[in-house]
Amino acid sequence: MTDRTANPRPVDGKAMPRFGGLATFMRLPVAEDPAGLDIALVGVPWDGGTTNRAGARHGPRAVRDMSSLIRRVHPVSRIAPYDLCRVADAGDCPVNPIDLMDTLDRIHAFYDRLHGAGVVPLSVGGDHLVSLPILRAIAKDGPVGMVHFDAHCDTTDSYFGGYRYTHGTPFRRAVEEGLLDPARTVQIGIRGSTYGDDDWQFSYDSGMRVIAIEEYFEMGVDAVIAEARRVVGDGPTYVSFDVDALDPVYAPGTGTPEVGGFSTFEAQRMIRGLSGLDLVGGDVVEVAPPFDPSGNTALVGANMLFEILCVLAEATAGRRG
Ligand code: MN
Ligand code: MN
Repeated sequence: MTDRTANPRPVDGKAMPRFGGLATFMRLPVAEDPAGLDIALVGVPWDGGTTNRAGARHGPRAVRDMSSLIRRVHPVSRIAPYDLCRVADAGDCPVNPIDLMDTLDRIHAFYDRLHGAGVVPLSVGGDHLVSLPILRAIAKDGPVGMVHFDAHCDTTDSYFGGYRYTHGTPFRRAVEEGLLDPARTVQIGIRGSTYGDDDWQFSYDSGMRVIAIEEYFEMGVDAVIAEARRVVGDGPTYVSFDVDALDPVYAPGTGTPEVGGFSTFEAQRMIRGLSGLDLVGGDVVEVAPPFDPSGNTALVGANMLFEILCVLAEATAGRRG
């Protein structure tokens, strides 16, 4: 039995008030060397894949700030992730704001090192293209399944005349590269006007389970959870949470908001419903502080991060035995 008493811990909010101290993810220590962690919280401050309103490059810093409001123990599951796993803030992944392809390589290399050290990544974007190089690292040994919360399928082929890497294309590329098993992928919350009739046709053609928002509300949250669990099954599964999945009433601070989405509470329930799955990583993306004057979207992002952290810590501790 491994001694967990030396696990990294958040700064105690009853010792140093939560508005004080350095703004790290969840007030955790910074890990200069993430080797030895079970789970690394990583910022990816880059929005070079954005096709419309930029700003998600500022997401990690804003989420770090708002995550100081989050305490140690989950209110419903009672999961205490820092008791189960060694978790720390591994800082920001290197990026290059003036070169997209170079940035994809830098992100891939960073997560390759984490994966090679046996560390499970939980990331804060950044725009949704950052999920692609992350998947290149964690799915190098075989495709993973995915629970994907989003207003958009992000499976378009190309933009602006053949440019294949944008935040509207990552999961098409991930399938083409053998990183994502489309038969074990579920996309939840899809809605919004499209460029044409076939923007998301690849999702359907490749066999992903697309739960558009109309079907979502028809089914109800419990049935959506059951369907997501059925689709991903027992295999390794990534969780990707685009904050534009939420109704912009709850998360207005994002580049491509779409009205008519689900609520923060429904999202919390769905993530809690992933308990027991073989989760191997996750991300929260598309928090764009320039469109978030109240800071509420960053707060929501921090809470989604904590929800994912709890089920991910449970899965990671379970694999360790
Ligand atoms: Mn997205
Ligand atoms: Mn989206």
